[in-house]
Amino acid sequence: MQKTTDDKTTSEVIPEQMGYNTRFQFECHKGVKCFTRCCRDIDIMLTPYDILTMRKYLDITSEEFLAIYTDIHLLEKADLPVVTLKLLDDEQKSCPFVQDKEGCLIYECRPSTCRYYPLGMGSLSYASELNKNNDEENADAFFFTVKEAHCLGFEEKKEWTVADWREDQGVNIRDEVNAGWTDLIVRKKSVPMSIKLSEQSKQMFFLACYNIDKFRKFVFESSFLKKFHVDPAKIEEIRNDDVKLLQFGFNWLKVIFFQEGEVKVKKEE
Ligand code: SF4
Ligand code: SF4
Repeated sequence: MQKTTDDKTTSEVIPEQMGYNTRFQFECHKGVKCFTRCCRDIDIMLTPYDILTMRKYLDITSEEFLAIYTDIHLLEKADLPVVTLKLLDDEQKSCPFVQDKEGCLIYECRPSTCRYYPLGMGSLSYASELNKNNDEENADAFFFTVKEAHCLGFEEKKEWTVADWREDQGVNIRDEVNAGWTDLIVRKKSVPMSIKLSEQSKQMFFLACYNIDKFRKFVFESSFLKKFHVDPAKIEEIRNDDVKLLQFGFNWLKVIFFQEGEVKVKKEE
């Protein structure tokens, strides 16, 4: 499984640059001898959209999901909190959702990292570029295969292009929804380390990106709408739509971090 925490690469990663149309040979299925091997002793960063869909699938709140299934880390270069899947305390450090024979118990809503494997993304800037251009062909796309010794999927005969794999695994929609989040991280990384965010700004980032149910309460049940000008149509749009609320949150964080974006602070009366 792809190693993701804080841009970390491991000695197992072969950074062979691949474009959108590069072909590779790979297949993963229940018949491979290594089945579920990659779901143990791994480091899976969860994106905002992962959390949103996983908590819905498990029928729990985002707050409960964070408490039960995640660990929180600081992404050092960006000085922002990120969330990883908490592994079981068993000998193999298994993912809580893996079952020996059946594989992934939450396959329909498995995280982006699990979907991308065996591809790694060379840079978060790809999704960020995609967000600006909405144009996959011209985005700064580069990928690489993550060839771990235990993974026998590369010995299978099936061929893919990177584009076909992304389509098949449903990562396109995920990257699109998460683009505002990756943009915030990429931009924050480029800010000199000496310019620090306040603890409150980091908490707001965590709230809007990862704790969607609490963020909804914050928007609708606090003085938020008195402090920020939000178009009435937008208010209705985000009231019951998780994805729209998430994307609204990313835009709002642009105001907090960079004093720019669609969400405007109301003038004092
Ligand atoms: S979420 Fe599913 S695919 Fe991902 S590591 Fe866990 S069991 Fe494996
Ligand atoms: S083939 Fe690779 S991805 Fe599939 S189960 Fe084996 S180790 Fe995991």
